[in-house]
Amino acid sequence: MKIGFIGLGNMGAPMAANLAAAGHTVTGFDLVADTPEGVAKADTVIAAAAGQDAVITMLPNGEILQSVAGDIVAEMTKGAAFIDCSTVDVESARVVAEAATALGLHAVDAPVSGGIGGAAAGTLTFMAGGSEEAFALAEPLFDIMGQKAVHCGDSGAGQAAKICNNMILGITMLGTCEAFALADKLGLDRQKMFDVVSTSSGYSWSMNAYCPAPGVGPESPADNNYKPGFAAELMLKDLRLSQQAAVSANADTPMGQHATDLYATFVEEEDGEGKDFSAMLPRLEGRGRG
Ligand code: NAD
Repeated sequence: MKIGFIGLGNMGAPMAANLAAAGHTVTGFDLVADTPEGVAKADTVIAAAAGQDAVITMLPNGEILQSVAGDIVAEMTKGAAFIDCSTVDVESARVVAEAATALGLHAVDAPVSGGIGGAAAGTLTFMAGGSEEAFALAEPLFDIMGQKAVHCGDSGAGQAAKICNNMILGITMLGTCEAFALADKLGLDRQKMFDVVSTSSGYSWSMNAYCPAPGVGPESPADNNYKPGFAAELMLKDLRLSQQAAVSANADTPMGQHATDLYATFVEEEDGEGKDFSAMLPRLEGRGRG
């Protein structure tokens, strides 16, 4: 296939490189980032999008996505797939899909989980929203860039799944960290705490696969001085998207709101930017109730 790839940052560059390595003809565009090996460089966003069978975007936020989509949808070939893999607000995903569909394109919102490591290894999970036909066009590309793709429903459903998943992740990571901090103060050994909880009803991905306590459980960013991993500011971005969606859908999400507030304080006032999101444990362990 002829594929245009817009947004060649930490995630987009390895995803585009994997598509090229699989034999597709990939043309990339980014405002600043270099084009990865195997990917041709376009001078403008329109040059990257025109005449392609599929265009994939991997951009920072919904505002930028809407602006890029505004520039390219009218230039794309009718019947082509417009696949946005960025994490954005549900509303932006729907607005972009509507504009693309009105011009005869097949739109899919397909945010990912798996991080930079998953992008490089081609093991991402895609959560997709759009018509059956649009998903069918995108699926072979998801198979190259990832190991699993779930068709979640109509436009916006992929973004909805992503932010609900990451709201749970933020909340469970905070719960796991504060339980470790409490266990410390109760004199409970962290390894014993892990041995019990990881096989009891308090288990979760945060505890079992990404344990925030150094030296305990499988290797995780905690064992690497909390170098991300999944940076606290990216968790904050996703939590804020969850609360934006909750407000527009009139959903009561008190735990999600509290997790958002805690990560905002950590990132914006306590030097948490650039640290893994599991660094909430060292933040909490030094504190008392005051
Ligand atoms: P990044 O900042 O490394 O890359 C974004 C790229 O988009 C940059 O290279 C930037 O120059 C480019 N860009 C910005 N505006 C542009 C425009 N108008 N035209 C062309 N290019 C433009 O970010 P990333 O880590 O690659 O993340 C991309 C998306 O994936 C985000 O929505 C993020 O939330 C999501 N995501 C990231 C991770 C992760 O671990 N990094 C995991 C899952 C999802």
